[in-house]
Amino acid sequence: MTRASLPPVAVIGAGFSGTMAALQLLSVLPREQPVLLCERAGTFGRGLAYGTGNAAHLLNLRASNMSAFPDRPRHFEDWLGRLGPEDAASVQATPAGTFAARGLYGRYLTELLAQAVTGAEAGRLRLLPDTVTDLEPEGGAFRLCTEGGQSHRVAGAVLALGNLATDGPGSRHRLDPWDHEGFGRLHPHAPVLVLGTGLTMLDAVATLRAHGFDGAILALSRRGLLPNAHAPSAPWPAPDLTPADFASLPRLLARLRAEVVRARADGIGWHGVIDALRPLTDTLWRNLPTRERARFLRHLRPYWDVHRHRTAPPVAAAIADEIARGALTVRAGRLLAVEDEAAQAVVTLRLRGSERPERLAVQAMIDATGFGRLADSRDPLLARLTERGLVRPGPFGLGLDAGPDYRARGTRPERPLWILGPLLRGVLWECIAVPDIRNEAADLAALVAADLERAAAA
Ligand SMILES: Cc1cc2nc3c(=O)[nH]c(=O)nc-3n(C[C@H](O)[C@H](O)[C@H](O)COP(=O)(O)OP(=O)(O)OC[C@H]3O[C@@H](n4cnc5c(N)ncnc54)[C@H](O)[C@@H]3O)c2cc1C
Repeated sequence: MTRASLPPVAVIGAGFSGTMAALQLLSVLPREQPVLLCERAGTFGRGLAYGTGNAAHLLNLRASNMSAFPDRPRHFEDWLGRLGPEDAASVQATPAGTFAARGLYGRYLTELLAQAVTGAEAGRLRLLPDTVTDLEPEGGAFRLCTEGGQSHRVAGAVLALGNLATDGPGSRHRLDPWDHEGFGRLHPHAPVLVLGTGLTMLDAVATLRAHGFDGAILALSRRGLLPNAHAPSAPWPAPDLTPADFASLPRLLARLRAEVVRARADGIGWHGVIDALRPLTDTLWRNLPTRERARFLRHLRPYWDVHRHRTAPPVAAAIADEIARGALTVRAGRLLAVEDEAAQAVVTLRLRGSERPERLAVQAMIDATGFGRLADSRDPLLARLTERGLVRPGPFGLGLDAGPDYRARGTRPERPLWILGPLLRGVLWECIAVPDIRNEAADLAALVAADLERAAAA
């Protein structure tokens, strides 16, 4: 095959992961090889997280951590610095750092894409606004099919589909946290239940208030833990962990607690120690014995999440105010049953510390519980790829399985199919936030280019 006729590499999903995979691929693939970026939502670059226009939806990470490129750490901050005064309200400086609105970050990403589409190599990045429904193996490559009836031969594909949707409680009053139109249809005063008390719950509360909802909100999770807020913190060096530290979870915890004590003695809070673990977390996750990882998921994960995935101080302050005035109640407990009525659902809850179940009428249940599983997914593309033996559930049923080279693993021999982003949760653990995904996108692009070159030479 001549270089002029190299088929494109497809990237399916144009949220942060797909956008970064596409940009990184453009820089490492041969110049004669296009990239086909496919997105079903119509808007490229923003994904689920960065499409919001609500200025109260702030990034969960400091602007200094949100560069799209691993080799240009100030790239996003410099972009922010060039904005005019009309955007000032979307950037909040706090003693813990600067936090920008997520919608603004979406604009940053769409500008990066626009530069790639119209820049020096115009035409090499092709945008396909359609839902991908199948990847049909064809020789050593694929035929990519879309809902709109398009068909493209592609040399390989990267799945960057974001989180698997949760199947949530089967109720007609269940509301997706990203269904902004659904929020707009709510009664302004009737109570709402939010399932989950993490970052998505904080988001849902801000969305409810932005839609003029002033009723009571009950947020429920097994442990009722709220995300911590970022705090001013000096950096702490990554701990020098030995293989013995990985032998068991209690041992690792003891080691990390000792590290926190040492940091505190130096006047540095736990935030610095948790942040120092970021580059090590993947190694930690891969090296812990399977039994210990299962223990982590069962017992420790909620505690890890609220320390590791922190919120911007203005968001934490708004939530504290909601709680103080009784508008938001956060409880530990379980949802036992849901009875649908015409205009409301009657939910039965067992709150922690209470003997008797309680019944409560709510107009909606916002499902902010987080990650779904492949087994419960109704995604037609994933169903097709599973049938074809191209993908299978990841470790512990989290996301999809992949090798250390991001290659999808299924029940049949591997094909030129790679995975990036939150779908790698069971394999990598740290793959859901910008600082990790940007590194992984660069790694993945280099591996894809090398694999395709090897395949072409074979
Ligand atoms: C509300 C929220 C706030 C967050 N805030 C932060 C933050 O402040 N900082 C941070 O680092 N991380 C944050 N995150 C984490 C976030 O997961 C990552 O930063 C990143 O946005 C993940 O992007 P993604 O592309 O993997 O997934 P997504 O954004 O979900 O994008 C996946 C895309 O794939 C498309 N797609 C799916 N299936 C198909 C198909 N068959 N055909 C075509 N297109 C398809 C979807 O339409 C979607 O646009 C946040 C996440 C959420 C949900």
